[in-house]
Amino acid sequence: MPLSRYYNHENLGLILIVDDNPDNLRLLSKMLESKGFKVKKTVSGKVAIQASKIEPPDLILLDINMPEINGYEVCRQLKDQEETVNIPIIFISALDQIVDKVKAFEMGGVDYITKPFQELEVLARVKSQLRLYQQQQQLIEQNYQLQEEIKVRRRMEEALLSANQQLQLFALLDGLTGVANRRKFDDYLNLEWQRLAREKLPLSLLLCDVDFFKNYNDTYGHLMGDYCLQQIAKTLRLLIKRPADLLARYGGEEFVIILSNTDFHGAIYLAEEIRQEVYNLKITHAKSRVDNFVTLSIGVATIFPNLEIATNSFIEIVDKALYAAKAQGRNRIVSENLT
Ligand code: GH3
Ligand code: MG
Ligand code: MG
Repeated sequence: MPLSRYYNHENLGLILIVDDNPDNLRLLSKMLESKGFKVKKTVSGKVAIQASKIEPPDLILLDINMPEINGYEVCRQLKDQEETVNIPIIFISALDQIVDKVKAFEMGGVDYITKPFQELEVLARVKSQLRLYQQQQQLIEQNYQLQEEIKVRRRMEEALLSANQQLQLFALLDGLTGVANRRKFDDYLNLEWQRLAREKLPLSLLLCDVDFFKNYNDTYGHLMGDYCLQQIAKTLRLLIKRPADLLARYGGEEFVIILSNTDFHGAIYLAEEIRQEVYNLKITHAKSRVDNFVTLSIGVATIFPNLEIATNSFIEIVDKALYAAKAQGRNRIVSENLT
C-alpha cells in the first residue's frame, strides 16, 4: 500500500478549515493557531478538495451549509479519492438537528461541532481526532513495514532453500565429470537392490576401468588425463538412457553403471557398446600396451537381488570380472551371470 500520507507535520498537525463564512474561518483559525496548529482555510468546497489532494491535511473542519457545493458533497468526493479517503472530517453546522448529525456520520464524518463555537469543546474534539488519526497512520505504517519485512524474509527463505537444494545436488555429483559420485552410487544401489528384490527383477552392474591410465597421465600430464576422463564420462552418459539406470564415478579412472531391471544379455550388449564407443573416441594413448588409443576393460554381472545377499559381495563379483578382463589382456569385457 502506498503511504501517500501520514501524520508527520512538524507542528501539532495541519488543519484545513472550510466554511463559506469568513468570520467563522477567522474565529476558528485564530483559536487553533493560538494552540500551535498549522491552519489553512478556504471558503470554497472545490478549492478544499483540490488543496487536500495536493497537500493532504491531518484533519478537515467542514461546514455543511455552503452555497456552491455543500459539505456532504465535499465529504463524498474526498472519500472517493485514494489520496484523501483517510483524512478525518469534522462537520460544522449551525443546525443543531439530530438528522443532520446522523447524516454527517453516514457520510464518513468522524465528529460534529455546532455553532456558536465553544473554544474548549472545539479544541478537545480536534485534539482527540488528531490523536486517533495519528495512531491509525502509525498502525498503517507499521503494518506496511511488517509486510515489507515478511517479503524480504520470504525472499531470503526461497534463496536459502534453492542454495540448499543446489548444495545437496552437488554433494552427490562428481566435480570433475558431473556424473553421480560414489556416495550417490551407494545410496542408489541399496535402494534399487531392495526394490528389485521385492519385485523379483534383475539388476546388472558394469564396472569400467581405463587401461594403462597411469601411463596416460605420465605421458600427457594430469590435466590431459582429467580431460580424457571427462570425454569418457560424456560418452557413457549418452549411452545410458533409461531413467532408472545410474552412471557414477566409482574411483579415479573407474566408472560404474547400475542397470535396473536389465538382464544379462542386455548388460553385455550395453557393455560392448560402451567399450566400442570409448574406443571410437580415438584418444591417442602411445604408452598403452593394448592399443594406440584409450581403451576400457569392463566387468559385468547380473543378479536377482535378494535381501540375504549384501550389495558389497555382488560388487566384489563384478570387481573380480573386471580384474579378469585386465588379466586376459584388457580392452575387453568379462561377465558373470548369477541369474
Ligand atoms: P590398468 O590398465 O591395470 O587399469 O592400469 P592403470 O594404470 O589404469 O591402473 P592404476 O590403478 O595403476 O592407475 C590408475 C591411474 O589413474 C592412477 C592415477 O594417476 C590415475 N587417476 C586416478 N584418478 C585420476 C584423476 O582424477 N585424474 C587423472 N588425470 N588421473 C587419475
Ligand atoms: Mg583402476
Ligand atoms: Mg586403469
